[in-house]
Amino acid sequence: MSALTNYDALIVGAGYAGAVCARRLAEDGGKKVLVLERRDHVAGNAYDCLDSAGILIHQYGPHIFHTNDRRVFDYLSRFTKWRRYQHKVIANLPRDNPDVVPPHKKTDGRCFFPVPFNLDSLKNAFGMEEGERLGWKLLDAYPAQSQVTILELRQNPDPEIAAIADYVYEHVFVHYTMKQWGQTPEEIDPATTARVPVRLSKDDRYFQDAYQGMPLEGYTPMFERMLNHPDITVETRTDALRRLELADGVIRLDGEIFDGPVIYTGQADELFSFRFGPLPYRTLEFGYETLPQDYFQTHGTVNYTVDGDFTRITEFKHLTGQVKPGVTTIMREYSRAYTGGPGEIPYYAVINPDNNALYAKYKAEAGKYPSLHLLGRLAEYKYYNMDAIAARALALTDELI
Ligand code: FAD
Ligand code: UDP
Repeated sequence: MSALTNYDALIVGAGYAGAVCARRLAEDGGKKVLVLERRDHVAGNAYDCLDSAGILIHQYGPHIFHTNDRRVFDYLSRFTKWRRYQHKVIANLPRDNPDVVPPHKKTDGRCFFPVPFNLDSLKNAFGMEEGERLGWKLLDAYPAQSQVTILELRQNPDPEIAAIADYVYEHVFVHYTMKQWGQTPEEIDPATTARVPVRLSKDDRYFQDAYQGMPLEGYTPMFERMLNHPDITVETRTDALRRLELADGVIRLDGEIFDGPVIYTGQADELFSFRFGPLPYRTLEFGYETLPQDYFQTHGTVNYTVDGDFTRITEFKHLTGQVKPGVTTIMREYSRAYTGGPGEIPYYAVINPDNNALYAKYKAEAGKYPSLHLLGRLAEYKYYNMDAIAARALALTDELI
């Protein structure tokens, strides 16, 4: 137990990183754990709740759980049952070639195809016969691969494959990426567009992981169960930075030395008062709309890959399976540069060599505090999915226990 407090471990943030660590340290490490959370709820960006129409919504953007990591899936399954759900996404864009779009796909001058772009998307784009032929050509060009990234495809010298690459770049990637990042696919981290490859198959699922689903009653109850342990104390509406002091290799909580592990899952730059300058992020604005109809769209998420000032529309009932006739809630996502203004939330690290170098300065500063651990999407300045964070939390607590 830390010399002057009642706790053995301190955790800042009650998202995946914080909650998994708290449970493991309490349950498997026998530690008394204090979790400080700035928001008025747990679950971090995975938080979900009922809106005023009674629809279960995700307040910080659509979250679909998917993983190949059996340990993570088993661990979380202790705190929730799952609804089987395979996320599927379509692109919605202006129709620029009326001749080749199958008639049943024509509505209001728009066309639709599966995203990630796959062999069926190719037929929607180029017509049935030509699409089929080009599909075989792609399979011949990449015989040992099930997918190819758009940046890789654009390197292919074959003129017909280059034409496919141009089509996909123009109709899927360049405008969406400009909306999301304010930069082209070439200017952002290649790993980001690689998340949504071109599929060399007809698999129209957004993710191909072995385990996919949604917590049966939602994410928030899963987190509440995870944090419900006699040796875990959670204080919400508490900004840890008002109570923590880091100086000369020593961490103080409420003015007293805290010598147990401190797991910090907030922004690394904020922890050190932005002393090397702010780390760049993208933020999002969410536009909610509740409509008097059963459903608004055919898929959980529809990406507006070419036009519109938002990137995508998510309709939560598709994700959650909630049955509620005559009413539905949709959400549009508008991406902006994060300025640090009041109420703004940093959602995405802007990963590039300059920003990574700036982050490395904060990481080095954190290294001066042997009991301090930076963990999570913000604290590590990385583009992690939920399962990756849970895996990192399990690995860190393996070391600490
Ligand atoms: P967070 O969830 O951000 O939790 C950090 C917590 O720390 C927050 O609650 C914050 O309030 C708190 N905190 C910060 N500073 C302080 C402080 N000073 N004092 C007290 N508390 C503090 N992943 C998927 O796997 N599938 C998806 O479909 C998916 N969709 C996404 C959609 C969007 C729009 C976004 C932005 C992300 C999505 N993700 C998805 C990623 C997922 O949100 C993250 O992997 C996950 O939330 C990371 O957990 P975390 O604990 O690192 O961070
Ligand atoms: N992307 C795109 N068009 C799409 C879908 C994705 O250009 O229709 C690019 C875009 O740059 C995006 C990245 O691929 O930021 C990753 O997409 P993903 O859906 O994984 O983003 P997230 O759900 O994390 O916001």
